[in-house]
Amino acid sequence: MPGLFEGKKGLITGVFNKQSIAWAIAERVLSEGGVCGFTHMPDKPDDERKKNEGRVRKLIDGHSGAKFLEPMDVTLDGHVDAVAGRCKEELGELDFLLHSIAFAPPEDLKKDTVDTSREGFKTAMAISVHSLMALASATKDLLKPGASILTLTYYGGEKCVPGYNVMGVCKAALDATVKYLAYDLGPRGVRVNALSAGPLQTISGRGAGVDEMLGLYEAMAPLGRNITHEEVGKSGVYLLSDMSSGVTGEILHLDGGYNAMGSPGRMLEKIKAARG
Ligand code: NAD
Repeated sequence: MPGLFEGKKGLITGVFNKQSIAWAIAERVLSEGGVCGFTHMPDKPDDERKKNEGRVRKLIDGHSGAKFLEPMDVTLDGHVDAVAGRCKEELGELDFLLHSIAFAPPEDLKKDTVDTSREGFKTAMAISVHSLMALASATKDLLKPGASILTLTYYGGEKCVPGYNVMGVCKAALDATVKYLAYDLGPRGVRVNALSAGPLQTISGRGAGVDEMLGLYEAMAPLGRNITHEEVGKSGVYLLSDMSSGVTGEILHLDGGYNAMGSPGRMLEKIKAARG
């Protein structure tokens, strides 16, 4: 049986290492026959070992569907345009685009939201939100009718999740961006959706306090467990492929049902039992 992505081409951003959500999705896309261009965070000019590039290259090497690897810092328009140019050159048209990028300066992420600095706010919003607009704009003429854009969001943009702070504000803006882009690109037949993942151990996740959240999700989510990288790969592939044709402007929660709870549920029973 042909793979879900047989004959499909697209761009994958946001792979940092093996634990990255983008890699969990990319691995699945590649195994289903997809052809992908990849981006990596540029290395500092004095880093002779080129660690960022090297880590991603090591992951994609050996995958015949991996067509190119290009440096991209989304705060630089020239980088975004260069990536769009490489997509045109090497892939022609695009069937999918994965945006899996977020950042807030650690000193701002640690602050109470009320004390977020202007510069920290601007940086976090530019990298975590505007980058989706920038990438969609730079590639919109390459995206085929039926193409799918997918970004990664978190529940901390819908409700206050203490500790998520300025990133929660960014995710709220990202969720709104998904809906506005879905409207803008709808007439072209291009879909835009977000996958709202529960906590996963990744570099960014650890910076945003994932370790503490894992126990909470296990105790509160209807499924009584955390989600896995494999599951994020499966849901990502659903939203990036024709399997979700007709779905746009949507935020799909992949969190074991955590967001459906209006009380701590079974966790409350455990607290009651502990109190005797
Ligand atoms: P990750 O650290 O592996 O990925 C984040 C990526 O953002 C990295 O590849 C990094 O290079 C990239 N990035 C940061 N600044 C950039 C810039 N200026 N230009 C280009 N790229 C830049 O961590 P992850 O958990 O896989 O994060 C991917 C996405 O998933 C993020 O949007 C994150 O908020 C979201 N998410 C993560 C979790 C979780 O628990 N890990 C849960 C829900 C949503």
